[in-house]
Amino acid sequence: MKKHNFNAGPSILPQIAIENTAKAVIDFNGSGLSIMEISHRSKDFEPVINEAVELFKELLEIPAGYSVLFLGGGASLQFCMVPFNFLEKKAAYLNTGTWASKALKEAKLFGEAVEVASSKPANFNYIPKDYSIPTDADYFHVTTNNTIFGTELHTDIDSPVPLIADMSSDIFSRPVDVSKYAMIYGGAQKNLAPAGVTFVIVKDELLGKVSRAIPTMLDYRTHIKDGSMFNTPPVLPIFTALETLRWLKSLGGLKEMQKRNQAKADLLYGEIDRNKLFKGTAAVEDRSLMNICFVMNEQYQELESEFQAFASSKGMVGLKGHRSVGGFRASCYNALPIESVQALVDCMKEFEQKY
Ligand SMILES: *Cc1c(COP(=O)(O)O)cnc(C)c1O
Repeated sequence: MKKHNFNAGPSILPQIAIENTAKAVIDFNGSGLSIMEISHRSKDFEPVINEAVELFKELLEIPAGYSVLFLGGGASLQFCMVPFNFLEKKAAYLNTGTWASKALKEAKLFGEAVEVASSKPANFNYIPKDYSIPTDADYFHVTTNNTIFGTELHTDIDSPVPLIADMSSDIFSRPVDVSKYAMIYGGAQKNLAPAGVTFVIVKDELLGKVSRAIPTMLDYRTHIKDGSMFNTPPVLPIFTALETLRWLKSLGGLKEMQKRNQAKADLLYGEIDRNKLFKGTAAVEDRSLMNICFVMNEQYQELESEFQAFASSKGMVGLKGHRSVGGFRASCYNALPIESVQALVDCMKEFEQKY
């Protein structure tokens, strides 16, 4: 049966990226060797990482003065690397979910870290808007898409201090004005590549301003200087990332991607709002295009596991909501075709008919 992959992460990748990775695992570039058994410094791999960096710059229209890095450690290591490299006296954080809370917790190890606003009392079902960013902060940190709670910052905000964003789960889903950010980072396993590589886009001139000593591996300048080759980078996930970036470009880039993501989200939220059995959990104006969270309406609560089983029988995968929200979460990343969203909508309609 055809599977519809709504996994939250690691998650769906473009079929062409998977197929080309499979080929490269057997025989990379006709070299007679697997991509897994060549040197990261070989003349065959160098063009891979270089093209991946170039496509990051091209697709996101990254201005001059920024570096693109491919690192290990996941987005979670960035929670600590960011304050290590940028926090001298004070940092400001917008607390919009589990990942934002974890980022804030790490910053507190390095100095004063203020939470400018938090939607925690409402179980993070919206993004706070009335807050002021302290102008004496070294940076302001936001999570643009809250993977667990299904809320998203749909615009690039203005910040009086350097803006740093965790874009793990919405990178490449829409055009971004990179010039507004000091740094953008994320784990690749939501919208770009298999787990194992972390991307960092950082404005070079903002580095080197803190007085503490930074361990070599945790200093962004180390990785800028060595082109992400200070140590062995995650070769295979970088290869797949390149294939995903080529796919994005071939489809027409990020404007086209945003159009497709909007169409998918409109289709599914439309059905959630129409169907008497279901309701959305996130504030309407903050609804994520990437992670669409919904629950059974009050009077139909007892049907939750039945719908879960019904959807599974129709080939839906990964719909179970995160335990902190419950219900369902349909992750509709770039690679998810609208046909899968339509299949889920059909499934919700069919289930409604029974009641
Ligand atoms: C998944 C996720 C993370 C954690 O990423 P790791 O690579 O597993 O450390 C951080 N932030 C956001 C927004 C995420 O979705």
